[in-house]
Amino acid sequence: MGECAAARENVNPILPTGVREIIFPGALHQPIEDIMAEFQKLVFSGVQPTGNLHLGNYLGAIRKFVALQKDNDCIYCVVDEHALTAQLVHEDLRGQTRAIAAAYIASGIDPKKHIVFNQSAVAGHAELAWIFNCVARIGWMERMTQFKDKAGGKNAEQVSLGLLAYPSLMAADILLYRATHVPVGDDQKQHLELTRDIAQKFNIDFSANIRKEGYGIDIKVGDEPVHAYFPMVEPLIDGPAPRVMSLRDGTKKMSKSDPSDLSRINLMDDAETISKKIRKAKTDPDGLPSEPEGLKGRPEADNLGGIYAAVPDKTQPDWLGELGGAQFSVFKPALIELAVSVLAPITEEMRRLPGDTSHIDAILRDGGERANARAEKTMKEVRDIIGFLR
Ligand code: ATP
Ligand code: MG
Repeated sequence: MGECAAARENVNPILPTGVREIIFPGALHQPIEDIMAEFQKLVFSGVQPTGNLHLGNYLGAIRKFVALQKDNDCIYCVVDEHALTAQLVHEDLRGQTRAIAAAYIASGIDPKKHIVFNQSAVAGHAELAWIFNCVARIGWMERMTQFKDKAGGKNAEQVSLGLLAYPSLMAADILLYRATHVPVGDDQKQHLELTRDIAQKFNIDFSANIRKEGYGIDIKVGDEPVHAYFPMVEPLIDGPAPRVMSLRDGTKKMSKSDPSDLSRINLMDDAETISKKIRKAKTDPDGLPSEPEGLKGRPEADNLGGIYAAVPDKTQPDWLGELGGAQFSVFKPALIELAVSVLAPITEEMRRLPGDTSHIDAILRDGGERANARAEKTMKEVRDIIGFLR
């Protein structure tokens, strides 16, 4: 019996922890190009309105969003429903949502050619997420590193059910548009693997109905033919800065939600603030090495050098060759100059955007209507596949 035939026999089991790998062996190792050939290429990604956008968001995600729009159909979302998972009550959720949308525009995303909108404007995200909550297994969610980090230790009793189900909503965000490519930072890799698992299980569990309703595409997973409704998304993680680390602790990711503002360089920081934050950034007494081995056990040096290289898209050997032997007292001013030069045009553009909220609101409303039209098509088909009475 082939792998997927075994999988089909296992429809809807209540699986013990660890069985996920047995159900869909090989699925994640399949050459993506083969699986994806039939689905129309569509780029989707999102950012949560949980605080100030930082250099990590820009280098790891938004800069890729901008580059991808040249040759692709793109949907960029402000994922406001995700913002409730870690913190329920926000002082100014509307303002934060507008700020992320403004940063998209200021960074160069074209909301007319593509779609920029906020997630809660399209009801299909929550509806499909519910269905995926019933497709996914609790064990899959509990194994997510981000969940374990945020829910670990004394927080275990305090975190919301929404935080556990976060990857299921993320899968719905992407698959609601049957998107094929998702540009994200390295921290989202595991969630995208789970998105593929959810798509895969849905395709297999509902294989007969997908065919009966006349939807879906014949693809191969391993040697087994599957009639798939949802594509296997391809994460676009590569780039010179897939994981920018905190300026205060080189072992922690730079995050919007980090309580210390000194831990990150915000897109809206002025030159003086950027300079202060980089001067205060944690380092060690040694200078920068010229060989990769010299970075071992020195996460802060690795991170600052990595940022210096990522802005102009340099590789590690390039920046080590250029900076090797430099003391931090010499290197930091160079890094300040570079960070200011990349962020200044974006900050300036954000300041130029009309102060009244109606401009951004109109962009989001227009994007929401266009996104909704696409989402509704998917949801009608999904309701038919599941067997909900119309
Ligand atoms: P939060 O702390 O609220 O989770 P965040 O800084 O992690 O905020 P998100 O909105 O969760 O930001 O993520 C938006 C995008 O930015 C995602 O694609 C994510 O992978 C990417 N990203 C986030 N932090 C970094 C980082 N430090 N380096 C590179 N990419 C990042
Ligand atoms: Mg995050």
